[in-house]
Amino acid sequence: MTGPVFRFAPSPNGELHLGHAYSALLNARMAAETGGRLLLRIEDIDVARCTPQFEEGIYRDLAWLGIEWEQPVRRQSDHFDDYAEALDRLVDAGLAYPSFMSRGEVRAIIAEAETEGHEWPRDPDGAPLFPETERRLSQREREARMQAGDPYAWRLDTRAALAHVGGPIFWEEQGHGPQGQTGLLRANPTAWGDVVIARKEVPTSYHLSVVVDDALQGVTHVVRGRDLFFATAMQRLLQELLGLPAPVYVHHDLVLGDDGRKLSKSRQDTGLATLRAAGLTPDDIRRMVGL
Ligand code: GLU
Repeated sequence: MTGPVFRFAPSPNGELHLGHAYSALLNARMAAETGGRLLLRIEDIDVARCTPQFEEGIYRDLAWLGIEWEQPVRRQSDHFDDYAEALDRLVDAGLAYPSFMSRGEVRAIIAEAETEGHEWPRDPDGAPLFPETERRLSQREREARMQAGDPYAWRLDTRAALAHVGGPIFWEEQGHGPQGQTGLLRANPTAWGDVVIARKEVPTSYHLSVVVDDALQGVTHVVRGRDLFFATAMQRLLQELLGLPAPVYVHHDLVLGDDGRKLSKSRQDTGLATLRAAGLTPDDIRRMVGL
């Protein structure tokens, strides 16, 4: 038996802030306390928004905090082939379909339903669920549009996927959800509808690359912010479909700003680089996040 494997998986699309510091320090502390390993993963599939400068900033800020991670670091944009292979398996199993609609077309469908007085269902993040229209396209129509060169994303047919799994899906939560949910929890991936598993402009998605990488890297403990609690349901479904092991999940408190709102990368005041430039020390940061 090898020990537990933790990972910190930031996206280099902005400066790290106090919330990232808390997550990284908590992962490092849990790895140290359990004799486990700590991996760092750069989640840069969004090639338009991620930059080498922000990636450098991540290494600099984590090193400054005194965090040590294993080499080599896995950078997702170097591994699109791994995600393509997983995607192919879902497509071959008939569990994904091409989705051609533009955002504008989707908005129009939803707006029309809402003017007719139907309340459109929303996902756990509050975004409208994707309409079911394209799930019903014929194979002929799909192929014709693909051959015509119409851009498309791949969406998971969540209902078919659940039927394929054939029974309830659970995960082990060792932190807790927004309503205190903890222990063995039942996943409800239906809440997300037919999610994108490969985008139009990128051959993968957040959910797909996370589950592939957590499995490839042997991650046993996913320790991350509570804002990703509900995402776990979709990630557990993908793990079941792809035959990947399920890690234990620990969703931790979010560091909130003075206004009680979640920190964002655009808020400079809690950025680690800004705080360092203002003369704060790593110990000050630990105190500020309560670790
Ligand atoms: N890359 C994600 C983020 O920066 C975190 C993914 C995860 O921990 O599962 O929010």
